Amino acid sequence: MGTTKTFRFRNYEITGDPLGEVTYAAECVSGEEANCGAESGDMAEKTDVDRWIAEHVRDTDHRRYRRTVADYVLAEPGEWQ
Ligand SMILES: [Zn+2]
Repeated sequence: MGTTKTFRFRNYEITGDPLGEVTYAAECVSGEEANCGAESGDMAEKTDVDRWIAEHVRDTDHRRYRRTVADYVLAEPGEWQ
């Protein structure tokens, strides 16, 4: 006996959550065969990440990083399509 799934889609309004903290982080992706992988961890200010990178460059001379920004959003249901 087969199963049938029906999906209905609804529009959502996605807005920034004022209670959610924006965080910044960086990961060192320098390296010939494997990435260094050093991570700054989540930081509240972009300048904190810049400082972490500057210190990592000073200590290792690594020059390539993956920087991420994370925020929180709220999804408010809208009309059914
Ligand atoms: Zn590194």
